[in-house]
Amino acid sequence: MKIGLNWTVRNSFAGREDNDFRGISQSRVIPYSKPLSRMYVNLGLRQVINEAHQPKRIQIQIQLVRHMANTTHPKKFRFVCVSFLFLAFDVTDAKTTFACEAPHLEVGFGRVDITPSRPTPMAGYYSKRLSTESHDPLWAKATVIDDGTTLVAMITVDLIGTTQWFVDETRSLLSKQVNIAPECIMINATHSHTGPVLFDPNSSRYNRFGNEASESKQYMLELPSKLVESVQKAISAKQPMTVQHAVGEERQLAFNRRFFMTDGTVGWNPGKRNPRIVREAGPTDDRLPMIAFYDQQGALNALMSNFSIHLDTVGGTQWSADMPFTMEQSIERVFGPKCHLQYSTGCCGDVNHIDVHHAFDQKGHSEAARIGTRLAGAVLRSWQSLKPSAGNRLHVSNELVKLPLAKHAADRVEWANSISERATHDKPPPFIEMVEAFRILDVESKHGEPIVAEVQVFSIGKDIAWIAMPGEIFVQLGLAIKDGSPFSTTVINELANGSIGYVPTRQAYAQGNYEVISARCVQGSGEMLVDSALHQLRKHAEVQNKK
Ligand SMILES: [Zn+2]
Repeated sequence: MKIGLNWTVRNSFAGREDNDFRGISQSRVIPYSKPLSRMYVNLGLRQVINEAHQPKRIQIQIQLVRHMANTTHPKKFRFVCVSFLFLAFDVTDAKTTFACEAPHLEVGFGRVDITPSRPTPMAGYYSKRLSTESHDPLWAKATVIDDGTTLVAMITVDLIGTTQWFVDETRSLLSKQVNIAPECIMINATHSHTGPVLFDPNSSRYNRFGNEASESKQYMLELPSKLVESVQKAISAKQPMTVQHAVGEERQLAFNRRFFMTDGTVGWNPGKRNPRIVREAGPTDDRLPMIAFYDQQGALNALMSNFSIHLDTVGGTQWSADMPFTMEQSIERVFGPKCHLQYSTGCCGDVNHIDVHHAFDQKGHSEAARIGTRLAGAVLRSWQSLKPSAGNRLHVSNELVKLPLAKHAADRVEWANSISERATHDKPPPFIEMVEAFRILDVESKHGEPIVAEVQVFSIGKDIAWIAMPGEIFVQLGLAIKDGSPFSTTVINELANGSIGYVPTRQAYAQGNYEVISARCVQGSGEMLVDSALHQLRKHAEVQNKK
């Protein structure tokens, strides 16, 4: 089946009769397979209208042509269905009238390689590991969007997280050098476990597993200027773009990693085909929001996509962005190497790619390639659901939420110190004891001050919103935000603008195990972040509906 769309635009000029149709007439046939047909029509119409020397009244005749072919008897049963749609409306300024259909956003993309150039301690586990080589580059990817009044920069880094120092430093440099307000800068990490340790003297864990290396400190000192460079590249590449959005779906890649067990406890990563597993203790998020940016020639320039899955597939000692590497390759194969894929990680504190129902190996580059290819496929499968953004105005807000610290008995501090000291021995303490000990030491270093978590929201028009929150957030909290969001395409970037550790649900605190033992913030913190996000989203909807 092929659906064509022909249009004819006729106009009447100032001072002439409304029915004095003369001069301008154009016709195009747009194959159904072009996802951007609507934008293409808009652009074509605008060109026609501009050529019409400021018309006062436009009449559009749209002819829908549907070719149906019977595949069994192609010659016998082929027919064409034609329908007409006539539209007429007054315009005083053609450009203004069509602005809401074809946004005048200026958007640009840039990326900078942030792979360490020297062997450097790697992040992600409770042990020391030094990088050996690079499998694929780690990137800082930037998207800047400018509506003429507000300019926002969204930076995604292929790193384990974002430390408050490098977020603050990058924002400070960007506000000085490029004049972007700090609240208009969103920095989030994909959570790749095959990137470098992020030097942070406040991290008791990395004080044992990487901070001591001069390479870690040097890497951190150089990082902010690389992020600034990615934004500068994006700004210099800015051009008028149309935004389309959709929410795709992927149901078979992500699995909740907490399980009710036969002994009544809640297990964490209990192992494949463990007979004691009863069922999953939490949900997954199958939604795959996607935002596509098209230039004025109708070419796809960039795709932002987001999914809730823990990015710890590869392992080993090679630098790698993990599965976004293959996802990017697959998208480039379809749309060309100039297409910028900015993949970000959604709320997945308790979700990973391990399917406990099967015994097959799920570690390494081939597994990352399987996931990346499949996610790219899920994006492409939903391609025809893309629709233009309703409105082109940006709105920005953020709130600082104070999260009380997790509690521990005073006599546990000495125990925690002794565990930390033994963490690098040949026979380290049990994993879960290290998890608890590093939490206690991190909480102690705050001297009773609450954790300050930034909840940041960007929106474009009435359809698209991004939320940025620090920490590894349980998926149910993300689902609560998406379900309550007035924006049909709601993207949540976790590990954004700082890292605060795990953020479990209130319910999970009662169940215990790894993420809860690790969490630096107290029960109820996750729900406070959700409240802030929803309250801001509702305000955004009010503002966007007035614009
Ligand atoms: Zn992790």
